[in-house]
Amino acid sequence: MIRRIVAGSFVLAVSAVAALAQDDVVRLKSGEFILGKIQSSDDRGLTLERWDGSGVITIAWELIPETHHSRFRSEVTGASAAEAMLDGVRVITSFRVVEGLMLEEDTAANLYRVKTKESPQPTLIPKHVVLAVEKIKVAESQVYTPEERLQRYMAAVDMADLEQVAKAADFALSLGFPDQALQFYRSARNLIEARIREVEASTLSEDEKNAKYEEINELLKEFDRKVKEIEGAASLKEIEDHAASGDFDDAIRKAGEWVREYEGTKLWERNQDLVERLTREREEFVANRAKVLSRKVVEEFPKIVGKRIRELARADGVDAALKQAERLDDAIVADLASKFKATGEEVKHWWRQALAEREKKKSRANMGTGSWIVNGGQDGGYDSQQAPRQQPRGGGGGGGGQIPGMGGQGGSLEDLRRRYGGGGGGNQPGQQGQGQQQDLRKRLQTKDEWWKSQSSSVRESFLEANWALQSKLVQLGETKEKNCPQCYGQGTLKAQRAGTYVDVICQRCHNAKSEVEIVWW
Ligand SMILES: [Zn+2]
Repeated sequence: MIRRIVAGSFVLAVSAVAALAQDDVVRLKSGEFILGKIQSSDDRGLTLERWDGSGVITIAWELIPETHHSRFRSEVTGASAAEAMLDGVRVITSFRVVEGLMLEEDTAANLYRVKTKESPQPTLIPKHVVLAVEKIKVAESQVYTPEERLQRYMAAVDMADLEQVAKAADFALSLGFPDQALQFYRSARNLIEARIREVEASTLSEDEKNAKYEEINELLKEFDRKVKEIEGAASLKEIEDHAASGDFDDAIRKAGEWVREYEGTKLWERNQDLVERLTREREEFVANRAKVLSRKVVEEFPKIVGKRIRELARADGVDAALKQAERLDDAIVADLASKFKATGEEVKHWWRQALAEREKKKSRANMGTGSWIVNGGQDGGYDSQQAPRQQPRGGGGGGGGQIPGMGGQGGSLEDLRRRYGGGGGGNQPGQQGQGQQQDLRKRLQTKDEWWKSQSSSVRESFLEANWALQSKLVQLGETKEKNCPQCYGQGTLKAQRAGTYVDVICQRCHNAKSEVEIVWW
């Protein structure tokens, strides 16, 4: 980026290194702010990618206050005086006009090669799209890049000639090469010292010598003044870059130093109010940053919750996961603060402020079959209080005696259990058989058994609901309790076990009777 600062009688331009790839804030004449990442700038305006994700836009220079152009302008637009005019061409195609020097009409490739200011390499124009080629006079600045122009100029400079070197310095400055210009001014100073010695050694009269010294002194003062302007401009640019990247505190502190250091320069005359200006910009920036970032925080919040919950769902046990879920608020705020380089308080403030917007995007989380864990269901143990009973002896086989039609004959215990036994089967403790204890109870899962048997998405939903229930960050909607679909909300049901009916606790809800779904935003 090359910046142009009109400072009195000459044009001062400062090149910036890699300043473009930064987040920036552009204030429009309308007072509106646009925040984004500046990508480029050209004759038409400034192109940036907006922070709010709404895409890439080009802002016309006319919309930006002139005093701010210098921060963004990427080329020197004012042609320097006495610019050489060259015999050039204007090539008109159906969709563009190219002005520059005709290097070659390549008949083999059916192309024109035209040198323009856009690039050291020629522009290639297929002849079949050309509507017309006009001979015109083109300014050197339309043909060559600033680097090329400086090189061309330098090739003709006699570095032992004070006037030529001083002119080269001015020219480098006008093209936007302040570092080059500084080198030339230093060379010019050395030449002046040589000139003083020449005058001393000359046979001129004292009066004539004094007149020469006076002249030389004026020249020296002018060089020093220009050097100071260049240094002041570079320093000012650094300050403005700090401000542009949001580091206003640092920028304002340095601005105070700058105003003292460069007092009296042309640049200072235009920037005496630098501290006040940056202070105002800070206020506006802070307000707009808050606006943009609060929207981003609201967008990002559910994503961060999801990421954190996915981590928690990998915990070894449900207690560990629930305990960590209690501390999730802090982790979420810290994640957002770090992502947006804001404080935790700012993040919370923006999140709270966006309540109305958040309410439009409610999230649901279902505790599902884990509801009993936090809803008073029985953790492990047996589903029935029924004490084991003694199996009646005799030919009854498998305790099927009470079931009509099965009296005593045939069917093994396994067969009976398969056909009439209560529920899931397979987890019935103890060995049953003739003459042994008959246990009518089944085991209930412990909470960790539930945890380990669930898919990660079930665990995540369970954790999200538990976090949201006690989070101080989010709002809760209606908590829905649906009857357990297995026991219809009764908590217990009758099961046939070994041919008899037993009251058992629901294997699904562990007597918690319901499943919980919560809504949060
Ligand atoms: Zn149930």
